[in-house]
Amino acid sequence: MQLVCLDLEGVLVPEIWIEFAERTSIPELRRTTRDEPDYDKLMSYRLDLLRSHKLGLPDIQKVIAAMGPMAGAKEFLDALRRDYQVVILSDTFYEFAMPLMAQLGMPTLFCHKLEADLEGFLVNYHLRMPNQKKEAVQRFKELNFKVIAAGDSYNDTAMLGEAHAGILFHPPRNVIDEFPQFPVALSYAELRDEIDKASARI
Ligand SMILES: [Mg+2]
Repeated sequence: MQLVCLDLEGVLVPEIWIEFAERTSIPELRRTTRDEPDYDKLMSYRLDLLRSHKLGLPDIQKVIAAMGPMAGAKEFLDALRRDYQVVILSDTFYEFAMPLMAQLGMPTLFCHKLEADLEGFLVNYHLRMPNQKKEAVQRFKELNFKVIAAGDSYNDTAMLGEAHAGILFHPPRNVIDEFPQFPVALSYAELRDEIDKASARI
């Protein structure tokens, strides 16, 4: 049995924080782990910012719903799910991803959770476990799945390395250079082609 594990942001939907920062004109929300390596500090900073701009979960979800998936993502995913079991592994949060999942036909998603207070303001976040993408692939292998994984950035490379076959989709230059062992796909047609090639090989 083969299983395809896909990253979400940068593969099927835009980078949610970045796109959210654009759409709400709050440039401070563009801050990423590259600017603040302490993830806990970064998240507290983001949640405080949302609150100070009076953005509760329903407002946030409205903005995210309007982003929509990337062009062609739904068609790519629908066709892929006809031929493979597919699980999306992401470091985003269910509360953010759900408006986009609805537009993608509700595929299976493993990610993290946010906590809102009674007024709808986000007060905390809960990571299910550290390194969940890689851990998930490892568990799927223990369940006797052959795993093909695809992602777009640095935080996917442990998952790609753990899988029987790893594929980079639209990665930045430094990731291509640092991980030459993974084939690179630049369109959904190329990604599907790499998945099928891996499927025949593993
Ligand atoms: Mg990504």
